[in-house]
Amino acid sequence: MTATTVYCIGRNYADHAKELNNPVPKGEPIVFLKSPSSLRPCASGPLAFADETFHHEAEIVARIGRPVALGARGSWDDVDALALGLDLTRREVQSRLKEKGLPWTASKSFAGSAVLGAFLPLSSFADRDAIAFTLHVNGELRQTGNSRDMLFPVEELITHLARFCPLQPGDLIYTGTPAGVGPLRKGDRFELAFTGVGSAFAGTL
Ligand code: ZN
Repeated sequence: MTATTVYCIGRNYADHAKELNNPVPKGEPIVFLKSPSSLRPCASGPLAFADETFHHEAEIVARIGRPVALGARGSWDDVDALALGLDLTRREVQSRLKEKGLPWTASKSFAGSAVLGAFLPLSSFADRDAIAFTLHVNGELRQTGNSRDMLFPVEELITHLARFCPLQPGDLIYTGTPAGVGPLRKGDRFELAFTGVGSAFAGTL
């Protein structure tokens, strides 16, 4: 399945919103997009701007497995698999854009900015509402997360997105990052893992 749209959710964990001094969203989630080309690194390497420091945002990525009609209510049955990914962010650029009240796109959507591990079928997860995951960088634990801490759980995210866009099989939802975001530099080795599922995804920027 090819992703036609890569949805991303901002501030879906209260502890992360606080670490960046952002208000916690109320009422509805914060949604932004990455272009599908963000899933593909540029020819010279995984990053389009190798001279910049990026921030890692470790996130559960939900893949839509069936069409979700406009206005439909979201359900886990709409999701066929989960992966872990990094929402790579040009944090300084994002801060400048935020100060001016401008869209974040330039800080979020660029070749290789949507790092994505292998998908595991939903049946791999004993409790979908308590999916734990970790990110290590150069062997050091940087982020731990658990889906039970999401301000807007996956089903609610789908319901919200379907209010304004029908979803297609293959569409991806980066569901937001827990606390612990920080710099990731060229050459750093990262490892993302679902706790207790026995599968890890490692790579080097
Ligand atoms: Zn993110």
